[in-house]
Parts: sequence; C-alpha cells; structure tokens
Amino acid sequence: MSSRQRQPPPAFHVMAKPRGAICNLDCQYCFYLSKEELFLGSQFRMPDEVLEAYIRQYIAAQRVPEVTFTWQGGEPTLMGLDFYRKAVAFQRQYCPPGVTIHNALQTNATTLDEAWAQFFKEHDFLIGVSLDGPRHLHDAYRVDKGGKPTFERVMAGIALLKKHRVEFNILACVNALTAEHPIEIYRFLRDEVEAQYLQFIPIVEPQAGDALVSARSVNGRQYGQFLIAIFDEWLRRDVGRVFVQLFDVALGVWHGMPAGLCIFSETCGLALALEHNGALYACDHFVEPRYHLGNIQEQNLLELVASPQQQQFGLDKRQTLPRYCRECQVRFICNGGCPKDRLLRTPHGEPGLNYLCEGYKAFFTHIDEPMRLMSALLRMQRSPAEVMRLRSGAAGAVAPASTHPREAEKRTRRGRRGRRGQAIHE
Ligand code: SF4
Ligand code: SF4
Repeated sequence: MSSRQRQPPPAFHVMAKPRGAICNLDCQYCFYLSKEELFLGSQFRMPDEVLEAYIRQYIAAQRVPEVTFTWQGGEPTLMGLDFYRKAVAFQRQYCPPGVTIHNALQTNATTLDEAWAQFFKEHDFLIGVSLDGPRHLHDAYRVDKGGKPTFERVMAGIALLKKHRVEFNILACVNALTAEHPIEIYRFLRDEVEAQYLQFIPIVEPQAGDALVSARSVNGRQYGQFLIAIFDEWLRRDVGRVFVQLFDVALGVWHGMPAGLCIFSETCGLALALEHNGALYACDHFVEPRYHLGNIQEQNLLELVASPQQQQFGLDKRQTLPRYCRECQVRFICNGGCPKDRLLRTPHGEPGLNYLCEGYKAFFTHIDEPMRLMSALLRMQRSPAEVMRLRSGAAGAVAPASTHPREAEKRTRRGRRGRRGQAIHE
C-alpha cells in the first residue's frame, strides 16, 4: 500500500444505527435483523457519549461544505424523538462556520405521529420510506413481529409526512414477486403515493446449497426486465417529473461524471456502518467481525476510514473484477455491481460475476440511445426532459423544467445519501 493510498478521503458516508438491528417489523428479507446476534446482551441504544463522539468526529472528518448524517437501523425511530433532539443540538454545537448539515432518516414509517412529522419538518430531515408497492405486493413480505400486514400503517405514516410537507423518497425492494409487476408498482408510487423520488433495490439473498439464492430473490433477467419496463414508461412521460435514482446515476455517467453510487463505482469503501456501541464496519452489507474496523470511542473515525484495511476493502471491488466484466461493453457504468452480489462464475469459470449481470447488461444496453440523447441535450444547456418530445416526434410538447437549480440541488443531496438506496434495509 503506497502512502498516497493512505490519504484520508475528503468526504465519506456513514450509516448510523442508533438502535442497532432492533425493529418493530419482521420484513422477511431484511438482511440486518440477524445482526442482533453480534451484540448479545446489549441494550441496543446508542449512549449519549457515543452520539456526541460520532457527531464531533464525523463533522471534523469531512472536508466539504455540506455534511449529511444518515440514520438507519433496524428502525431508527425506536430511539425516540429526544435522541434526535440531542443529535441536532450536538450538530449545532460542532458545526463550524460555512458548513451546512443535513439529516436523512430511513424508516418503515409505521411509528410516525404528528410529533415526528413536525420535528422532521422543523429540522429539514429527508425521510426515506420503505414501501414495496400496492397492498398485495407490499404485504407479501413486509410484516410485523406477529406476521401481520403493514401496508395500512406505512401509508398512514406517509400521509403524515405529506400533511407536514416533509421531503420523502420511497425505497421499493424488488423481489421475485414484485419484479413481475413493474408498471403497477411504478404507477402506484407515482400516482397514488405521489412520490417524486424512487429507488428500486434488488433482493439477492445468498443461501447454502445448489439454489445459490433464496426463492424470493430476484434474478438477473427479472431485474433487467423490471427496470426496462419502468424506464420506458418514465421516458414516455415522466422525465423531469419523477426521479428514479438509478436513471439519474446513469445519466450522470453517460454525461461523463462519476457514478455517485458505490455499487456502480470502480472502487468503494466510502460508505461505512456505525453500530449503536460505536463499532465501525466497512459497509452496511458487511457488518461482520471480519470487517470490523474499530470503535470510535477508542480510535478516531477518520483514522479508521483511512486505515489500510478499509482502503483495501474499497480497492477489492476493482481488483477482483473478473475478465468477463473487464471486457464488457457496459462496464463503464456497471463496474461489476456490488461485491456482495458477485455469486456467479463467468462463462470462462472465473468466480466473481454478479448475480444480476444478465439484468444489468440488458438494462444498460437498452438505455444507451436515450441516455446519449439526454446527455447531448445537457451539453447544449437544454433540459433532458426534451427527450420525450424528440423521441415521440410530438410537436409543441412542453418540457418540464427538470434542470431548475433547486431541483438539481435536491437530486444531488439524494444521490449522496442514497448510496444505492442500499442505505436501506431490504
Ligand atoms: S454496498 Fe457494495 S459497492 Fe457499496 S460499499 Fe458496500 S460492498 Fe461496496
Ligand atoms: S453487465 Fe455483467 S459482465 Fe458487464 S460489467 Fe456488469 S456484471 Fe460484469
């Protein structure tokens, strides 16, 4: 490892889990609930001294003018409102002049009430809500501890956010069932939930044995077809009105910018997870003893992020990429996807091919032409939304102002926080 590689990064992202893996629901594909076993005997509540140390160290470590805190779980609202009042107070205390602090919180929305919504509005929290689609699709796997459906309670939480004009986005997991209903889900989220910002996160659950993944996991072909169906509907009528994280990321890459989402970046390692007791891990998906970096009560957060162990974790994403990916036509945007999903062998027998490869290849190939067109429009300082008129040939269609500066800024905020939407628990 060269000294250059050990330079601390100018900015990185941490998902803080103040209540650890504790949740009031029992979503069947949640990968995080089992992490409770790593901290047996714990109260699973972040103490004030850990909260203060985290806020102080995280702000000090960022060499950028905007700092975003992401709260996640488990279910982070189970900490109660007072915890977040303290968090906001510590943020004020440690925020240097010229720095703006943002907060994002991922929730199942079932615990929200008027007081939470008022607090979120007052402190400008961006709320991510986990909702898989209409009732019959959402309730298939998102149940509470008693196995009861949760759709009604989630929708009640969203209604409160809307009533108080809290900014929210929707994270929908794509599993073997929901993958068969792309348009129904997209239209429900767009027209009935009235969500403007969407993330579609694939469920890939490895398991021992011949099957490789669980029956509810989405496969590559399904995921690709799901994304293509939604992209085509979006391209016909919603560019500049609805923001799908993956489509935004893709447009950025086609336009020559970095992916801004770890799964499609060449390397990763700048999106870590902080457990309730101050233990820091390489990534939300690698909260395992082998990827434990240290505790922020004993060692500074920035030192841990810049450690050779974490640097190597990030570089491995590129260094373990099989030849099949290195020679792939869509590698520039795919980069082999997330290492956690690299479960297959390539046709040459090399390990490390992404389980969703077939879908990524189909989707990124499918969007090539419209992405080139939108990028060309951007270069001409025109709105990418004009792509709808140009492709339909409809004269006189009015393009929405998707490139309004406020909108662009909001999208950037979401891009940074949303990592993959993997911010979030499946
Ligand atoms: S989610 Fe995947 S790509 Fe992102 S940091 Fe973790 S391992 Fe890397
Ligand atoms: S589409 Fe498949 S082969 Fe191409 S980079 Fe992605 S995972 Fe690798």
